[in-house]
Amino acid sequence: MAEHIKCLIIGSGPAGYTAAIYASRADLKPVLYQGGQPGGQLTETTEVDNFPGYPEGITGPKLMEDLENQAKRFGSDIRFGMITEVDFNATPKVVKVEDGTELTADSVIISTGASAKWLGLENETRLRLNAGGVSACAVCDGFFYRNQTVAVVGGGDTACEEASYLAKLCEKVYLLVRKGEMRASKAMQHRVESIENIEILYHTETLDVLGEEVVDGILVKNNQTNEETKLDVTGFFVAIGHKPNTDVFKGQLTLDEEGYIVKEDGAKTNIEGVFVAGDAADKEYRQAITAAGTGCMAALDAERYLGDKGLN
Ligand code: NDP
Repeated sequence: MAEHIKCLIIGSGPAGYTAAIYASRADLKPVLYQGGQPGGQLTETTEVDNFPGYPEGITGPKLMEDLENQAKRFGSDIRFGMITEVDFNATPKVVKVEDGTELTADSVIISTGASAKWLGLENETRLRLNAGGVSACAVCDGFFYRNQTVAVVGGGDTACEEASYLAKLCEKVYLLVRKGEMRASKAMQHRVESIENIEILYHTETLDVLGEEVVDGILVKNNQTNEETKLDVTGFFVAIGHKPNTDVFKGQLTLDEEGYIVKEDGAKTNIEGVFVAGDAADKEYRQAITAAGTGCMAALDAERYLGDKGLN
């Protein structure tokens, strides 16, 4: 017989752990599957200075560890593993885990978040998969480029944050922005502009990542003058946004054109008993605190749903 769960939570960022805290305190006995990156995107950041309650800031990994421990304190069952298949039209809902385990659930909270996007250049993929100097995480990989010259692609807050972090370690950082302006907040823009060893190249697109085993340069083009230039960098960091981790829900839930789960009301999806929290449904705010807030909403909606159905 498949194990039956009252409240299944898929994903372990701030949304998932907050949902677990609320669901366990409401006695929904939540089981949370952590997915491929336990703790989610925040485990790839350094200082988090904007999560309320930490006046001195906190590191991303520590914040996630604290949230996990808080969820465990109230009895949340936190497990490793990816969910690979779902049938939300069944009653109860049926879910398969990567090891082949089948589960049934009365309610499901999806908090699978989003993952970094890549440019899609052939050599970018090859060198990324060979760990040859292409990365989407300065905090994880910046150390390897100490006193070297690197490039960061993107004009959002993430790109600015990556560039500022790398500037502390590296001799020089190129920040490659494809338009004539950045999308990042003014504060972040001022920060990168004020750092001496960051050179911002506007109207600049990456044509190729060069190097056999490791990156030894990139070919860029100024899209106003069409001038092509080789930049001598040994590290290439891509910070151009994210893709929601919702592939497993295709055909089951309503997704928008970019793959984000469409919310109907509160945390509800188009399927009764299935709720969503965090970046899997949010392309606008994408903050740890908004993810945590929607995790709380999803747990409260699940609690009400189970109560109305007499399943709590
Ligand atoms: P964004 O979507 O905000 O920015 C993506 C950037 O990448 C844009 O400048 C975009 O350019 C550029 N881009 C996209 N595709 C390409 C491409 N193919 N080639 C070159 N450039 C490309 O993503 P972020 O990850 O920066 O931020 C996501 C959210 O997280 C935002 O809401 C942000 O504010 C937030 N955030 C907040 C932080 C903080 O408060 N400390 C830290 C990090 C993120 P274009 O503008 O031309 O489309």
